[in-house]
Amino acid sequence: MKVQFVYPSFERHAQSHPELLECVPCNEYLGGPSLGIASIAAVTPPDVQVAFHDDRVKPLTLDVEADLYALSFFTPAATRALELADMLRAAGRKVVAGGIFPTMMPEVAGAHFDSIVVGEGEGVWNALLSDFGKGALKPRYEQTEPFDLEKLPPPRVDLYVEAESAALHPDDYPLQISRGCPLNCDACVVPYSMGKKVRLVPREVSKTALSDLAKAGKLAAITEDTSFFAFSGARRHLRTFLADLKNDPRPRGQKISYLGCSMPMILSLDPTLIQEISDAGIDRFYLVCGFDPITRNAFGKGDPDAMDRAIRSVQRCHEFGIEPYTSLLVGNETDDEGVFDRILEFTVKAKVPKTEFAIFTPYPGTPSWHQLEGEGRIFDKAWKHYNDANVVFKPKQMSAERLLDGYLTLWREFYKDKLHLAEMEQGQRTIQF
Ligand code: SF4
Repeated sequence: MKVQFVYPSFERHAQSHPELLECVPCNEYLGGPSLGIASIAAVTPPDVQVAFHDDRVKPLTLDVEADLYALSFFTPAATRALELADMLRAAGRKVVAGGIFPTMMPEVAGAHFDSIVVGEGEGVWNALLSDFGKGALKPRYEQTEPFDLEKLPPPRVDLYVEAESAALHPDDYPLQISRGCPLNCDACVVPYSMGKKVRLVPREVSKTALSDLAKAGKLAAITEDTSFFAFSGARRHLRTFLADLKNDPRPRGQKISYLGCSMPMILSLDPTLIQEISDAGIDRFYLVCGFDPITRNAFGKGDPDAMDRAIRSVQRCHEFGIEPYTSLLVGNETDDEGVFDRILEFTVKAKVPKTEFAIFTPYPGTPSWHQLEGEGRIFDKAWKHYNDANVVFKPKQMSAERLLDGYLTLWREFYKDKLHLAEMEQGQRTIQF
């Protein structure tokens, strides 16, 4: 049996707004696929042949033949994924799906696929394959309990690396050291797609994943607030991971591309932990703003204390020699039209060297999605517009047009005096947008 895994394409910021390419003096970075396919490929029995196709690089056609097509996608890629499923099924091919969108919108996805996986796929994938082999595929396979990570093999990132080409050769691939979150941030899907309990990826799995990336000459990208939590053993687990990373003989800057978390989290870390992060060779934080009360109050309400703390978060990164790469979100319920000026003021005061801007997006399954749906404020359900670069809902304190205009103005205004970035070496001038 041959399973063809497919990562469907989606629009990035510069594709939604090509004018950004004119005003942002940075290279547009096409990152690696998310970990979903690599994780499912890793639990696939060895007698099943697996192949990987990245639809972002080369649109999938019917020439790519397989017994079964397996698509994994999040909301921005759902428009294309549903289109691909329709195309393949019209040609008599069997197509299944998993990932965040099928988990959160099973009725929508289920109408286009022969079968969908709801929840983490590792626990049900082999049952699906077995049923498919017997010609008895069920319409839905659901992982109701969080998957036991003790049973998790290292992800098959080698599939991604083998598929690289001149059009796609990422410097990094994602690496996961925990799953799930007990918190309830209104714009985040993690507690609903991965469960509310923090579960830790076994140390040996992370070490093997790191070593596989090292052999391929790749960095690891890590984004997870949960690893910083002082409960559930998460922070201790992070410290063990950092120690392993420190022992990795590669020079600093050649192990991890960034460590991502909510920006004010930086203020809650004791200096020894930040030092351990630096000692592990991590040179860049990816700091997400707009999900937490501090940055919401700072940028949305102009709260001076919150603004000080936001600025202090960035300064703290500088003090430890770690580059603060911020992701600044607009369109929260607390944001009035003053948010754009306040964010620009913040970038100046905090000396933010490089940043990206994003528009609040009510992703299906999040508390915000349910709230805005309930209030009749979601006016666009073209899933490809759910990419943080379009306004798909009616904002509370301004028009949708003003929000979009403000977002584009932020890109233009922030980068207008940073043309020198175009002269910097590749890694320094590259951002995802
Ligand atoms: S944004 Fe971070 S802290 Fe909040 S629910 Fe999501 S993973 Fe948890």
